[in-house]
Amino acid sequence: MRGGGAMGELMRKFDWQSTELGAPQDWPLQLKQQTGIMLNTPSPMMICWGKDLIRLYNDACIPILGPNRHPQALGVTVYETFAGGQDTVKPLFEKVMRGEAVAFQDFKFKLNRNGQEEDVYFDFSYTPITDEEMKIHGMLVICTETTAKVMAIEGMRAANTEISRSNQELETDNKQLSSNQKELRKIVYDLAESEHKIRSIIENAPFPIGVYMGRELRVAFANQAIIDVWGKGPNVIGRRYAEVLPELSNQSVYQQLDDVFTTGNPFHARNQRIDLLVNGAMRTYYFNYSFTALADQQGAIYGVMNTAADVTDAVLARREVEETSDELAALNEELAASNEELQAINEELATTNEELSESRRQLETANEELATSASRLHMAIEATNLGTWEYIPATGELYWSKELREIYGIAETASATMEQFAAHIHTEDAAWVQAQISEAMDPVTGGRYDLTYRIVRFDNNETRWIKVQGTVFFDGGQATRFIGTAFDISELKEAEEKTAKLAAIITSTDDAIISKTFESIITSWNTSAERMFGYSADEMIGESIYKLIPPDRLEEEPLILSRLRAGERVQHFETKRLTKEGKLIDVSVTVSPVKDSEGNIIGLSKIARDITERKLDETRKNDFIGMVSHELKTPLTSLSAILQVAKAKLNNTNDAFLSGAMQKANHQVKRMSTMINGFLNISRLESGKIQIDKQPFNIETLINEVVDEMKVTATTHTINVDGCAPVEVNADQDKIQSVISNLISNAIKYSPGGTLVNVGCKTYKTEVVVSVSDKGIGIKPGDAERIFDRYYRVESRDTRHISGFGIGLYLSAEIVERHGGRIWLESESGKGSTFYFSLPLAD
Ligand code: ADP
Repeated sequence: MRGGGAMGELMRKFDWQSTELGAPQDWPLQLKQQTGIMLNTPSPMMICWGKDLIRLYNDACIPILGPNRHPQALGVTVYETFAGGQDTVKPLFEKVMRGEAVAFQDFKFKLNRNGQEEDVYFDFSYTPITDEEMKIHGMLVICTETTAKVMAIEGMRAANTEISRSNQELETDNKQLSSNQKELRKIVYDLAESEHKIRSIIENAPFPIGVYMGRELRVAFANQAIIDVWGKGPNVIGRRYAEVLPELSNQSVYQQLDDVFTTGNPFHARNQRIDLLVNGAMRTYYFNYSFTALADQQGAIYGVMNTAADVTDAVLARREVEETSDELAALNEELAASNEELQAINEELATTNEELSESRRQLETANEELATSASRLHMAIEATNLGTWEYIPATGELYWSKELREIYGIAETASATMEQFAAHIHTEDAAWVQAQISEAMDPVTGGRYDLTYRIVRFDNNETRWIKVQGTVFFDGGQATRFIGTAFDISELKEAEEKTAKLAAIITSTDDAIISKTFESIITSWNTSAERMFGYSADEMIGESIYKLIPPDRLEEEPLILSRLRAGERVQHFETKRLTKEGKLIDVSVTVSPVKDSEGNIIGLSKIARDITERKLDETRKNDFIGMVSHELKTPLTSLSAILQVAKAKLNNTNDAFLSGAMQKANHQVKRMSTMINGFLNISRLESGKIQIDKQPFNIETLINEVVDEMKVTATTHTINVDGCAPVEVNADQDKIQSVISNLISNAIKYSPGGTLVNVGCKTYKTEVVVSVSDKGIGIKPGDAERIFDRYYRVESRDTRHISGFGIGLYLSAEIVERHGGRIWLESESGKGSTFYFSLPLAD
């Protein structure tokens, strides 16, 4: 019993004499040996010995027995202290004692270890201990703790349960996933369907759309419209943009594209001139176009979308309309006969101009919106007023978009059928449109559809022009779907018609209509110009207008140009021009500035009328008037002399009638000679024979003389002289006298008796201004403009009974202007007039 720790100590002190085992020195060898091994083994071991199975145990057994059984369990029968009770273990121990080893595993019980109670598991083995004759005296009990193993197994079991639970969850998830997948499949299908629809719309859009991928800008998508515009055939997909359109290399388009790709900022251009190589020839187009960057969800740019609208027709039509509009305005003045008609056309033209610029604005807006992004295609379609439609031949179903319904003037909710569609094609177009539809739906010849025809609106029966494009889809030789777009182009059509009308007027007029630049280079030349000047359009376009100007009139052109630069028009300018044959012809020229829509002057339009015949007529008439007046003067002079003598003789009689009659006769003779002098002066003036004979004289004296003389005959009115100073002018006294007396006699003629006529003077630094005012009928502004024209008289109820020829003011104006003075008037209808003229003072 050496060593063995606490139990060795206890066993050595124990009174073994009182037990069945007796004194240890007398114990059998097996018991001694087994006890020695047991005490010095670190794992729990127990020996039960003898008939009563007296228990011995080592230190490792102390915790297993617990404080309730240790140390009492030492040296007493195992049954007394066995946990499970005697009845359960007795058969087991008897089995061992008969020579059979017994073991049971993973036995669970509570153990107080490290100050706390815990569940533990042990394997117990019970082995019989025999002597040399194989007689059994006791049993050796070895206990092995299996808590860790049992715990591990339990842990695994729990893990297993957990795994099987999560397996179930996974299965549910799987089911959910597979149903999601089905939904996804449907969404993908729907997406493909709608992508197909949008693609059809884009492909049928009447404006060009293209998509270029990567920095190299390879054409990934191009609709028919853009393919048509490029004019490089259908094989463009996959090629680089620069390769498809090498002619754009010097037109800054590449740079714009590159910028959009680099910065992501969209680029928009309006009415941009683009020169394209179409079928081998360079042609000029105008486009509204946009480049929009295409970015993925992370914002990385992978391509550029290009949308455009070909506005060439609109730009050219607008230009032509602008140019011809001014020409027309000028022509209006000249063509008195067709004046009214032209006026109406002019107005229409202005409206068309507005409508055109309005529709151009609409187009621009639409184009910008379109460019914003492909996903906004529908919005853009709305903005362009581009109608879309779809027809399913099998069911007869016809779908019209909101925009198309607006074009047709049919409510959004109203039904639209193929029959209604047919009934609203204009009767003149119905037959061929139907034929075109049938042809498009023919699987052999058809497929595409591109027509321009008239429709009759549902709401107001108005006729409109529409452009319709579409594509037919076939399945097994059967047309299954007809889809396309429609666009109202009435404004464009109208403008075309109007331009044609204007062109017809320009070709058919008798007047030469010529356009030129400010550098005097001719840009257009009509048939009448060919007739008048003998040069063909080919000979003159690009040539200088100076070719027509006679050498002694070369200074006229810069003068005309300077007036036009100031925005003025030059009207009825009478001059002479040279024909191809070198003949001089008399022409009346009207020149007007041609402005673009922003009001900038971009050229000049000139209308020349051949007035050679008229001039000849005038010369003949002048000669006749001169001759007649001259012939009349001789008898009138003798008549006047006779009257003077008769008057002198009558001074001695008291016959009141005779002296009155003589005075009246004298007055009438004077009137007649004034008139004849007037006609003579006119004929002299026209033939350039009038002479201005300048002498210095006092204007105040002249005015007083004229007024005094007038007072004798004009007894009905009061004539006043006001504010005149004795200043000297250097002028033709006789002619200035006739101007003053003409103004005073007009003042008397055109104002009621009893009113005042005032003659005034005002002296300025270098000139004197004479005025004659009356309180008479006055002159309306429209008449005032032309009052100094030859033979011009105001036609009104007030003037009808007053005789005259309309030459007095014309002559007065000519006389004043030939003195370097000015003549003008201020007047208010019904209140009176004031005529003014100025003369330079003598040095
Ligand atoms: P005439 O008096 O012989 O018709 P004029 O050349 O002197 O010719 O005048 C042209 C026209 O101008 C006249 O017919 C008249 O209608 C208008 N007119 C001239 N002076 C006056 C005036 N003081 N008040 C109103 N009308 C006038």
